[in-house]
Amino acid sequence: MQNNCIYLDNNATTKVDSEVIEVMLPYLTDYYGNPSSMHTFGGQVGKAVRTAREQLAAILGADESEIVYTSCGTEGDNAAIRAALLAQPEKRHIITTQVEHPAVLNVCKQLETQGYSVTYLSVNHQGQLDLDELEASLTGNTALVTIMYANNETGTIFPIEQIGLRVKEYGAIFHVDAVQAVGKIPLNMKTSTVDMLTLSGHKLHGPKGIGALYIRRGVRFRPFMIGGHQERGRRAGTENVPAIIALGKAAELELLHLEEAIARERKLRDRLEQTLLATIPNCVVNGDVTQRLPNTTNIGFKYIEGEAILLLLNKYGICASSGSACTSGSLEPSHVLRAMGLPYTTLHGSIRFSLCRYTTEAEIDRVIEVMPSIVERLRALSPFKNDDAGWLQGQEQALAHR
Ligand SMILES: *Cc1c(COP(=O)(O)O)cnc(C)c1O
Repeated sequence: MQNNCIYLDNNATTKVDSEVIEVMLPYLTDYYGNPSSMHTFGGQVGKAVRTAREQLAAILGADESEIVYTSCGTEGDNAAIRAALLAQPEKRHIITTQVEHPAVLNVCKQLETQGYSVTYLSVNHQGQLDLDELEASLTGNTALVTIMYANNETGTIFPIEQIGLRVKEYGAIFHVDAVQAVGKIPLNMKTSTVDMLTLSGHKLHGPKGIGALYIRRGVRFRPFMIGGHQERGRRAGTENVPAIIALGKAAELELLHLEEAIARERKLRDRLEQTLLATIPNCVVNGDVTQRLPNTTNIGFKYIEGEAILLLLNKYGICASSGSACTSGSLEPSHVLRAMGLPYTTLHGSIRFSLCRYTTEAEIDRVIEVMPSIVERLRALSPFKNDDAGWLQGQEQALAHR
């Protein structure tokens, strides 16, 4: 198995920090007690879970009683949305955006078949929301507004607190999918308008299979998972102790390194982006460059296919991601980039590089070194002329021959 790659796909998942593994291991071996048990053996595990919960709460500026562990970010999103609706059965309207993660979008789509009406807010070419559109959509019938903190594909950050102020005027519950924000930018729930917030362990150098939902004290919550009294009755099921311990440590480390990581990643990201833009013709940055995660750049290389770029990058051991989701063998451009109304020529050739605090200068240098030739090679191979008209004509011909 390959493990010496240049890993620039940190918005998909991250490496588990070695310190995180170290603190987690004893809970897979010696300390296997059930934290709810009455005996000392289980009780000491319960104590460790409490410490981990405090560590996680600290990165959000939350109280430990406001944290509910989940199995992943997807569960957090599902649980928050359903809880908000169950708590207000008389309200039948939901507001979200066109650029959410499938863990929110597909839940909303299903709810539409169950009698709910859903408003999917649009975004502009920079991927930014129009707050007037939000304001016009809010009514007394709106049960829930669920909007992501930062976009996983472009890194665009939404003005969450400005949104929250408007949501509060209408008495709706405000849920935020912050899976891409936690550990990447400072957050403080004490001064926030957010009612519920989702995070996921494997996006912040913790393990897969653990996440959490922050639920502000006083917010009405109806559990999704019913059973025992774990998580103060808000999520039944014996706790995933090793992963909870790991997530606590991961959060502690993220908070400890946050300021330094932001500065470092932003500098590396900007150098990568600016150099690629300067050395490769016909490429553009996708997203709101003024409101963006420090670790993410999404670049559209016109007239070529993102998948082809990824394959060649892969040959150099470089891991990145394209905006496209390869569904059932057909190459569908990303719903996020489509919602931004990007031109067809850019939609297909967009690549996301997402850095982390382990990313090195040398790794960025290597990408800067190989990218121009990759793009040049693909453009030379392309049967289509390297201009908008020629490219479109080529696409039409290709479609006609299917
Ligand atoms: C990764 C991700 C999720 C899903 O989290 P999982 O833990 O993989 O289920 C949800 N929302 C966003 C924005 C993400 O990036």
